[in-house]
Amino acid sequence: MNFSLRDFLSHSRIGQLPFRTQNFLGSLHSAFLAMRNLASLLLLAFAACSSHGFSGYNAMHHLLTISNIGPHPVGSKEQERVRDYIIDWLQKQGWESQVHPFVYRGLHGYNILACKGEGPGILLGTHYDTRPISDRNPPETRSLPVPGANDGNSGTAVLLELALSLKEPRNFRLWLAFFDAEDRGNIDGWPFSIGALFASQIELDLAAVVIVDMIGDADLQIYQEANSDKALTQSLWNTARNLGFAEYFIPQVKYSIIDDHLPFASKGIPSALLIDFDYPYWHTTEDTPDKVSPKSLEIVGQVLKVWVEEEGAKWIERR
Ligand SMILES: [Zn+2]
Repeated sequence: MNFSLRDFLSHSRIGQLPFRTQNFLGSLHSAFLAMRNLASLLLLAFAACSSHGFSGYNAMHHLLTISNIGPHPVGSKEQERVRDYIIDWLQKQGWESQVHPFVYRGLHGYNILACKGEGPGILLGTHYDTRPISDRNPPETRSLPVPGANDGNSGTAVLLELALSLKEPRNFRLWLAFFDAEDRGNIDGWPFSIGALFASQIELDLAAVVIVDMIGDADLQIYQEANSDKALTQSLWNTARNLGFAEYFIPQVKYSIIDDHLPFASKGIPSALLIDFDYPYWHTTEDTPDKVSPKSLEIVGQVLKVWVEEEGAKWIERR
């Protein structure tokens, strides 16, 4: 039970007290509110320090804003609004953004690439489209779109908060990539990761690629992924362990997943996927924001931020 002084004042017989006593209680109440505000500010400041400047709450704000636009499969009107939101935010944070359009089977897709810094690159990527059908729903509701709070919006939200919180890269160019048309795979003969396939054909001079997908699950457990580069995976897991996140980044390979890292891996670029594939709402209409937590977004965001800032330059050197 949470009982505040305001409740106490409104439920007590304060109206019957002499005026001077009411005044005193009023000042006491104001002092209490001021102290409470100060305490919240200190807590926020502490959270910002302990999270190396990456805020899970900021990321959650992006996730909710994008989720409110609605499901946004490749080629949809909603997708256009999500794209505008992403580009607008990146520009406000001083990132140079480029939109790379492509056409596949008559549908228009748009990858968004943003960069800071000069030289050879490290790329952090995610897909930002959501799945047009919920093929893991019962048959009668399979034609409904997936809301994509976790599958599409969680990776996007983490990259948008990184756009704000990452330090300026030194000695390399950092790319943030938002791929379209990942999640139309296995529908009407479409393969997965069409957007990433088009993006991988652009010569970006990359030393490492890290993809995030479905990393917002409130019950976060990220296992290593079989198609990912082993040394890069180890490097990411070391960062997670050093930050005290060993219980969320489990050092065992569990799944082998087709995702946006593969087009880059097939070009010989060390590429890794961070994904929590134990998500019961995957490809259903239940993939909604209540299944996602700011804490999970913050854990993954911190790992990426610290990894880029402390390990990024080493991956450029070992290229
Ligand atoms: Zn998916």
